[in-house]
Amino acid sequence: MLEIIVPAIVLSVLGFFLGILINFVSKKFHVEEDPALDDLVELLPRYNCGACGHPGCREMAHALIAKENKPADCKPIKKEQIPVIQEYLDNYFKNKKEQENK
Ligand code: SF4
Repeated sequence: MLEIIVPAIVLSVLGFFLGILINFVSKKFHVEEDPALDDLVELLPRYNCGACGHPGCREMAHALIAKENKPADCKPIKKEQIPVIQEYLDNYFKNKKEQENK
């Protein structure tokens, strides 16, 4: 019976302390992301197909914000969605420029 209880207690204690460690590390190294990334991912098809050359839509959103890609580089996107994303990006860059000038 002891050969079951001792490993169970050891694993429970180990799991508890590793949980605390993971919690601490995740808070210590937390990186605040631009909320526009979530908006852009919502506007993209979210197929994560990789046809744009990125591993997924979130990486494509990063590239759109970095001006490395254009919305039309997403292959499966509906044509009527391209101006919606472009308008979002135009407003995003305009707001960002205004914030930098303040
Ligand atoms: S091509 Fe479009 S749908 Fe596919 S991963 Fe890139 S952004 Fe997402």
